[in-house]
Order: sequence, then C-alpha cells, then structure tokens
Amino acid sequence: MKRDELLGWLREADPARLEELFRRADAVRRERVGDGVHLRGLVEVSNHCRRGCAYCGVRAANRDLARYRMDADEVLVAARRARDLGCGTAVLQAGEDPGLSAAWVAGVMRRIKAETGLAVTLSLGEREDRELRLWREAGADRYLLRFETSNRRLYDRIHPPIPGRRSDRLSLLRRLRAMGYETGSGVMVGIPGQTFEDLADDLEWFRHLDLDMIGIGPFVPHPATPLGCPALAASGPEQVPATATAACVVVALARLVCPLANIPATTALDAIAGRRGWELGLVRGANVVMPNLTPLSYRALYEIYPGKEALRDTEAGGGPGARERVLALGRTVAAGPGASGARAARRAAAGPDERAARGDACLHCH
Ligand code: SAH
Repeated sequence: MKRDELLGWLREADPARLEELFRRADAVRRERVGDGVHLRGLVEVSNHCRRGCAYCGVRAANRDLARYRMDADEVLVAARRARDLGCGTAVLQAGEDPGLSAAWVAGVMRRIKAETGLAVTLSLGEREDRELRLWREAGADRYLLRFETSNRRLYDRIHPPIPGRRSDRLSLLRRLRAMGYETGSGVMVGIPGQTFEDLADDLEWFRHLDLDMIGIGPFVPHPATPLGCPALAASGPEQVPATATAACVVVALARLVCPLANIPATTALDAIAGRRGWELGLVRGANVVMPNLTPLSYRALYEIYPGKEALRDTEAGGGPGARERVLALGRTVAAGPGASGARAARRAAAGPDERAARGDACLHCH
C-alpha cells in the first residue's frame, strides 16, 4: 500500500468507508494467519523503572506509587497458569528495572521453559546488548520493544534519555533481530502532538523492519504524568485522536502492510473500549490476545495508564476469560507457541548459504 493510500485511510472519517478497511484487514488476517488466536500470558514482573517516559504511570518520578518486584516462584506460578489456560507463550514485562538482574531473568526464563515448555517473550525495556544476548542464549524467543512513534522530535520530547545515552529503539530493534529474537514493536495512537503523517511513517517502519509482532494501542492519559494534563488534550486537524477507532484503523493498516505479523488486540484498546476492545481488534486485523496473569495484588500497581487495574477476567475471577471471548467470536484458540509467520517467510526467502551462515539450517538437509 502506497503512502498516499495509508494517509487517506488514516484521515478517513466516514464510518461506512472504515468498515470497508476493517473488512479488508479481517479477510487478509483470515487468509494469511488463519482463524486461530494465540493467547500470550502476560506477567508484569516489576513496576520499578529508571526511566521518565512522559506518558507512563510507572515512571521513576511517580513517587506515590508503591513498587514491587515479583520473586521467581511467583513468576513460575503465573507461567503455569498461563500454560493451564492454553497460552503458548509467557510474556515477561516490566518497567526498565536494573534490579531485575540479567542472571535472575535468565534463571527464571530457564525454569519457565523447563517446567512449562512455553515460549518466552521479554519486554523489559532498553537493556544492554550483553544482557539481551545472554537472555537469547538462555532461550528467550522474542523481544517486545515499541518504538512508540517514529517522529524523532516527538519521541525525544516524551522520552528523556538516561544521561549520556541516546535512546535509539529502531537500531536496538535491528540488533535484537540480528541476535535471533523474533522482534516485536509498535506504537501508541493519539499521543499529544502525533499527526497522521507520523502514523503513516510508523506504518512504513513496520513494513521496513518486517516486524514479527506489532502492538498498537491508544494513548491513555495518566494524571500522574506530564502528558496526563487535560490541558494537553489532543486538538488541531492533524492531531491523531486517542480513540478506539483510530487505534483500530492502525491495527487494520498494520495487517495490510505486514500480513504475516502477529498482531495483538491490546489491553489498552480493551480498557478504553469498555471491555470490547479485544473483540474490536480481533475482527479488524488482530490475531493475538494477552490475558493478564499478574497476581492481583501487583496488578493494580502496574498502572502504566489508568483504568487498567479495573480489567477483570476469568483469569482473575470474574467475567469471561480470554478463551471464552475468542470462542464467542467464532474463532479458535491456536495451539503451540505461535511463532512468527513473517520470520518463517524471511527464512524461506533466504538462500541456503545465508541459512547455514546463521546456523539455523544444515546445508546438506535444506
Ligand atoms: N518498560 C518496557 C515496557 C513498557 S509498558 C518498555 O519500555 O518497553 C508497554 C507499553 O505500554 C509501552 O511500550 C507503551 O506503548 C504502553 N503504554 C505506556 N503508558 C501508556 C499510556 N499512558 N497509554 C497507553 N499506552 C501506554
């Protein structure tokens, strides 16, 4: 899809035309990744964070928030529940927390893999290359690191760097890919100051990076953050609104530009769409949901945006759970780890020499 067309859809306001886009994305989703929905069990292992992201409720400067760090046994309990609920993957997410030592993470991951057989996705922020390599060697399958916006000026405005270190998530994503991770990224939709042109660029980056996973959620203002101030509320003709529809348009376009990617219907979408966001996302291009398996006592504290702690599900003891919600849509729960089809296609397209050079194929057999 050409840039003009992307921009046309991003600016489209007619609900009937948008239905056409959503139908197209749903058809491509069905044809390219099928009706199976992958469940990824989300475990929010720590809300400590050294960063000051201007939108995020767990930013270091938020002194009113009680901080927690799960211990290894608690993480294992959550991972077992993920397996028992039919998840093929455990996602370990946290603030950017140096207190989660590289060795601790590697150890927990090894235990999860040995005891549950689940694939493991890490989402622990911008860590050192040597740590990322260590985790990959310890068996981590995937890494999620949203670039949030490809507009460098906007990015810099909302991501104060660690002194002396420039944050460059796009280059980190390339290094993660080179380390052998399935690589996931994504953006928030409706960040104050974000324009439709910015989102068209973001979509071109998704295509360019040939992402394995793409997470897209609406920006949700958090009152304890600089971007949570109501005076900053989005305005102007080029400002992207932080609505469920705008987020779904980006999900649908992401499916069209990266047809084989694993694309979740995100928790943020669910939160702002009155607990119907998974359903909206799943019929507009998404093929993954991430039930939250963080113990309830910690869950309220992983408040990256407000309203999240109120999300209840069967997993937590009330309301329909991920499986029920998927089945109610006439979809199935996919078995297995749900590896990236984009990666399989990349590998098939690479010549045997390249495959052998990467060490993932025997020259004689393939
Ligand atoms: N520390 C990790 C995990 C961050 S939380 C990292 O830096 O990657 C995961 C995602 O939640 C973020 O990438 C961001 O896109 C999203 N998020 C954070 N605050 C948000 C907010 N106020 N509204 C919507 N999404 C938010």
